[in-house]
Amino acid sequence: MHFDRHSVDKDFISSTPGYFPDVAASWWNDHTWQLKNRITSLSQLEKHLNLSSEERNGVLLSGTKLAMAITPHFLNLMDRDDPECPIRRQVVPRIEEALEGEDEMSDPCGEDAHMPVPGLVHRYPDRVLFLVTSRCAAYCRYCTRSRVVSGAGDQELDTDFEAAYQYLEEHTEIRDVLLSGGDPLLFSDDKLERILKRLRSIKHIEFLRIGSRIPIFLPQRITPSLCEMLKKYHPLFISVHANHPRELTLEVKEALERLADHGIPLGNQSVLLRGVNDDTKIMKALVHKLLMCRVKPYYLYQLDLIRGSQHLRAPVAKGIEIIEGLRGHTTGYGIPQFVIDAPGGGGKVPINPNYVLQHNDKRVVIRNYEGEVFEYPETPLLKDSPLEPAAKFEA
Ligand code: SF4
Repeated sequence: MHFDRHSVDKDFISSTPGYFPDVAASWWNDHTWQLKNRITSLSQLEKHLNLSSEERNGVLLSGTKLAMAITPHFLNLMDRDDPECPIRRQVVPRIEEALEGEDEMSDPCGEDAHMPVPGLVHRYPDRVLFLVTSRCAAYCRYCTRSRVVSGAGDQELDTDFEAAYQYLEEHTEIRDVLLSGGDPLLFSDDKLERILKRLRSIKHIEFLRIGSRIPIFLPQRITPSLCEMLKKYHPLFISVHANHPRELTLEVKEALERLADHGIPLGNQSVLLRGVNDDTKIMKALVHKLLMCRVKPYYLYQLDLIRGSQHLRAPVAKGIEIIEGLRGHTTGYGIPQFVIDAPGGGGKVPINPNYVLQHNDKRVVIRNYEGEVFEYPETPLLKDSPLEPAAKFEA
């Protein structure tokens, strides 16, 4: 198959039959078939794609670092001949992963240092990240957690569920739990429900979230029975992870709509990736398609300093340029917050184009999306001027 790398992909196109013309629809639509038939070896991948030597050597290296796995659904979105295909670049290993930049780390967000019990990251005051599995439907080559994800690296995720529940019970300040990993939606409905039920038994936990790329990698997993189960645990939000508009196929759109129809608010977290979405036109098409799928573009992440990811890293300036190209130019709901997850565990820091040209106690000088400059009078703080703030300002 050939795809135009620069196409902005505004249409929702089915991902079938693609490279699997002989597979019956009943198999294709069964997520267990998709998982069993994932592409995990060089010989399987070469059956479908014409690989570059960088990719071939990358696949050979991946067994000792971050495993390769690609669902047939996601493979179908790749260009057979173009190694720079934006979908290929995300999940097909490349030998550049062996190059380690001097600022790169195995745990760039300092998660291990913020784990009071194994598998539970408590970095912000009122919320935690609960790493419930180390497995995903497919593996992103830039994964922040590649030190533990997939089982190929040298670190094991050793989540202690009972200790985590106990910690959550004791810490009444925690009101928000984000389930992640790995991908929690890879669990069976029953296994996932046991976790959600246990969390819901802790009275001070108000809000549950699941971070998952399964709606994108494996939309077949979003079954009506999964959605019925999830809706019992509201308020429950899901953050998905799409980077390029081509990922939003007809099947993905239907899966996202099923989740939304069950009352699950959906957000999307994209990672800014060189050669994938470091382009305002591509990002604009992505956010438009997300809104059509009832997904709010939530974050655009600057790529974490994960080892071996230099070839995928775009400049921070590119992220700012993209946000500048969206703000005012399209629907406000479609604009994600660009963030850097501060290296070492500082948390997410919002990065914005500079719209404030000057700000003092008399005025704020701002520019709009078209570059026009405006003044807005600053309002004195009430405690300085409780009766006549405007008069005092003029004086
Ligand atoms: S789906 Fe998420 S956790 Fe899994 S490999 Fe991709 S980025 Fe990492």
